Amino acid sequence: MNGDQEMRRRVEELRQTFKSGKTRSVDWRKSQLQAILRLIHENEDTLFKLLQSELGKHPVESYRDEVGVVKKSADHALRCIDKWISPTKGWLPLVFFPASRQVLSEPLGLVLIIGSWNFPISLTLDPLIGAISAGNTVVIKPSELSPKCSSFLANTLPCYLDPKAVTVIEGGQEVSSQLLEYQWDKIFFTGELRVGKIVMAAAAKNLTPVTLELGGKCPAIFDCLPNSDLKVAAKRVASGKWGACAGQACIGIDYMLVEQKFASKLIEQLKKTIKIFYGDNVQKLKNHSKIINKVHFNRLRGFLEDPAVANCIVYGGSFDDSNLIIEPTILLDPPLDAEIMNEEIFGPLLPIITMENIEESIEFINSKPKPLALYAFTKNENFKKLILAGTSSGSVTFNDTMIQGARENRRSHREIPTREKLRWSPDGREPGGAGGKGAGQMRKAGREMLYALFHSQFVCDDLPFGGVGQSGIGRYHGKYSFDTFSHEKAVLERSFYFELEPRHPPWNSFKLEF
Ligand code: NAD
Repeated sequence: MNGDQEMRRRVEELRQTFKSGKTRSVDWRKSQLQAILRLIHENEDTLFKLLQSELGKHPVESYRDEVGVVKKSADHALRCIDKWISPTKGWLPLVFFPASRQVLSEPLGLVLIIGSWNFPISLTLDPLIGAISAGNTVVIKPSELSPKCSSFLANTLPCYLDPKAVTVIEGGQEVSSQLLEYQWDKIFFTGELRVGKIVMAAAAKNLTPVTLELGGKCPAIFDCLPNSDLKVAAKRVASGKWGACAGQACIGIDYMLVEQKFASKLIEQLKKTIKIFYGDNVQKLKNHSKIINKVHFNRLRGFLEDPAVANCIVYGGSFDDSNLIIEPTILLDPPLDAEIMNEEIFGPLLPIITMENIEESIEFINSKPKPLALYAFTKNENFKKLILAGTSSGSVTFNDTMIQGARENRRSHREIPTREKLRWSPDGREPGGAGGKGAGQMRKAGREMLYALFHSQFVCDDLPFGGVGQSGIGRYHGKYSFDTFSHEKAVLERSFYFELEPRHPPWNSFKLEF
């Protein structure tokens, strides 16, 4: 059997499973969600190692953006699924009396999830949680650019999840193109705009609905702030820009807009913060991921090879070729027609554009395609209203980055307080090591608190996550994920008890006046 035949066989098997009705059972869905939790829990250490070696992610970052995200989503889905699948009832116009109506969520069928490499675990398993909760069968195609995580998913998922309902097909663009030729009931794609268009064109042939989680240039407006707020804001910018996969994040800040008179203050504060968070030696950067591969490394270096851009570097700009690390880099007022101001950066370079008046930022943002995320640091309530009314973006976050709004940490998942495995101290020491048992206990308590806090980072179940215009189509997270993979079926039932005769022919002038 050749590769294509084998792939078709596996996909067909999943279609048959869906037809059997097995995945519609709520017990089945819950068992699969529990299996995802078990998978993550039992493989945490392996995942930390894989993400460290593939992307240079620190385990704390991996927990916050990958492992913790999946745990939280699976846990949330398990708690909410009974409510999500319950039909919603409501009122009907009197003319239908007596009758009842409900909206039933039914699974779409067989879905394809195509993932990206920057969050290779959460960007595949998080949509999977939505697809399973909604009762679908699923094919996952992870990115070939994170091959270790891809093969982890391919080898480990079948050990936990129902292999007749969920399968991982590995490969690059050719495999992806092949898969796109099959008939799907939904395609969920995370990746770049160019490929999103290919996916949508392929889906259109079968009228398959798509969710496209794309990227683009996410702006951050930075209003003048008092010193104390500036310090906090600089931490949030530095942590969101460079502390999440070294800027290789779809919702990472791409560029900042600031008033001329405030720019030097902002840059000085960012410099200080970068030094504390990451150090200033590119060979020894701490808490900073690497660039995924040489191609992307050279792409980023290429932005700075333009002399007009290189002249604008006010901080950083060093490269460690052997480890694919680029220092956090700030540029002041690069030319607006330079590549760096027109392509998605997706890396640790941060252009800062100055303007006379911060309100000009709205026009600036509107001159570009609608971004996935828009950030604004301001205390001015009128300006916030102007931003909300005057711009369009997938999301708006005021005074922070990457969190997409605050989510109340209602009940953090249960495993956190008991787990001791993660050694997140930079020197990798065991809890209770140096400093004696008491200090170890203190560190452990501190870690647990951090884990609980991380629960509210990056993914908010109560907010839809997705783009608008060129930054994407559709949304997910929490109940939005369930809805993304469901069809809402309208059901209306009449009784034979009573009939309103004027609604039927023969028509006459009396009925017109009635
Ligand atoms: P990509 O589009 O190159 O690849 C994504 C997936 O598509 C991979 O699995 C790849 O194998 C497949 N693919 C690539 N070329 C294809 C083709 N011609 N036909 C069919 N399939 C193809 O994107 P990437 O480099 O993995 O990710 C970076 C992009 O993704 C950035 O633009 C970023 O902003 C965006 N992104 C968006 C989100 C989000 O949630 N909105 C999250 C992460 C990344």
